[in-house]
Amino acid sequence: MATLEIRDLHVTVEADNATKEILKGVDLTVKQGETHAIMGPNGSGKSTLAYSLAGHPKYTITGGTVTLDGEDVLEMSVDERARAGLFLAMQYPVEIPGVSVSNFLRTSATAVRGEAPKLRTWVKEVKETMAGLQMDPSFAERNVNEGFSGGEKKRHEILQLELLKPKIAVLDETDSGLDVDALKTVSEGVNRVRATGEVGTLLITHYTRILKYIKPDFVHVFAGGRIAASGGAELADQLENEGYEAYTKGGASA
Ligand code: ADP
Ligand code: MG
Ligand code: MG
Repeated sequence: MATLEIRDLHVTVEADNATKEILKGVDLTVKQGETHAIMGPNGSGKSTLAYSLAGHPKYTITGGTVTLDGEDVLEMSVDERARAGLFLAMQYPVEIPGVSVSNFLRTSATAVRGEAPKLRTWVKEVKETMAGLQMDPSFAERNVNEGFSGGEKKRHEILQLELLKPKIAVLDETDSGLDVDALKTVSEGVNRVRATGEVGTLLITHYTRILKYIKPDFVHVFAGGRIAASGGAELADQLENEGYEAYTKGGASA
């Protein structure tokens, strides 16, 4: 079983000509087959964690380690991370003008698998997965994220997740900006992947509502640049009722 281990992770960003420490010692272990939710107030550093795992150049790792099955993730290029089985769905997916969804998916699958998927089975797989996410087939010919609505962007992220079959998936606010129907559809996609038992999921979210559709095995409260508390699904209910105040008072949330 693949294991992602984050140990005492410290990360800074440059903002307004100053270096700001955003992550202040994050500890987290996610195993294949497990579903973890990270919940926290806006600006607490949740996306910074996702970007740091993705290898975004704006985020400087100043301490700690991230390993996948003992391999140093922080030493890997973005491509190597994907090949190692790490999948990251960002809060604000980027547009790729001139590249169709169809080409993008096939190129990604080829990169991750190390060989091009067989065309006939691949086309069928893409079609079926899109249908499962209630995406119109014509969508495949559009340019990646160009003019996509919020819901279309998130469906496209989950389409990638289902097709690429990573070992560990980090989903940053996949629920944000979705209406209830889209939220259900997207959650069903995540749950299909989960049902394989072969993906460990880190669901980063600000709101508890997605957790009604995707029941986490573990819930972590993110505050003050680290994980301030961990528990089971009941912790999400507590946050729903009481908010984050207990974890943020007496200090800035970031
Ligand atoms: P969250 O996802 O929990 O809302 P973020 O990780 O987006 O929080 O942001 C945490 C803090 O780090 C905020 O104060 C934000 O302004 C700052 N920050 C994050 N990314 C950058 C960046 N690229 N440049 C400058 N400041 C950043
Ligand atoms: Mg935010
Ligand atoms: Mg965020």
